[in-house]
Amino acid sequence: MAPTALFGGTFDPLHNGHLAVAREAADRFHLDRVLFVPAAHPPHKTRGAIAPYPDRVNMVELGCGEDPRFEASRIEAGQRRNYSIDTVERLDAAGAKPDFFLIGADAFAEIRTWHRWRDLIRAVEFIVVSRPGARFEVPLGALVRSLEGVWLNISSSDIRAKIAAGDTDVPVPAAVLRYIAEHGLYR
Ligand code: ATP
Ligand code: MG
Repeated sequence: MAPTALFGGTFDPLHNGHLAVAREAADRFHLDRVLFVPAAHPPHKTRGAIAPYPDRVNMVELGCGEDPRFEASRIEAGQRRNYSIDTVERLDAAGAKPDFFLIGADAFAEIRTWHRWRDLIRAVEFIVVSRPGARFEVPLGALVRSLEGVWLNISSSDIRAKIAAGDTDVPVPAAVLRYIAEHGLYR
């Protein structure tokens, strides 16, 4: 069976960088499926997400329409905080354990701060994507494949700042830009 990857994030909003990373990983590692998993309550964002969870999932769903290998997941919906290890274990229990965990170098650099990170590195292999300004070390025991080709200076933070300033020339799919405008997000 072809391997699958879980791609977690806040996706506030989903942008072309996320899609390029997922496409490149899917091509390079012959992935059947990339499951985009927006966090309902992102544990690593001190001020939380800006856009509500339902809007962030809807935007991910719109973007996932661009590639048949991409799928949006609502597995982290709910009141509780969600940790990646719990999500991986829930998928595993449902017979859908991801082979890979797709992650940017900035996020992977902080992996040792994640809830039950040792269990997570035992459970999945990581595909770590290079990102401008981010360096990382590989914790002992972690299985890591590096994806170096993608080097995109795109972030949701920059996109939110631009939209707040009234600039709509932002690197997101057209359907996502329409959604942002229609729902008055990030203004
Ligand atoms: P923010 O600026 O709000 O943190 P972001 O652009 O980093 O947003 P996230 O939702 O935080 O987006 O990221 C989800 C995952 O995608 C993380 O693993 C992150 O490292 C990765 N990622 C996001 N943008 C890029 C990029 N341009 N290149 C490589 N990885 C990326
Ligand atoms: Mg980020």
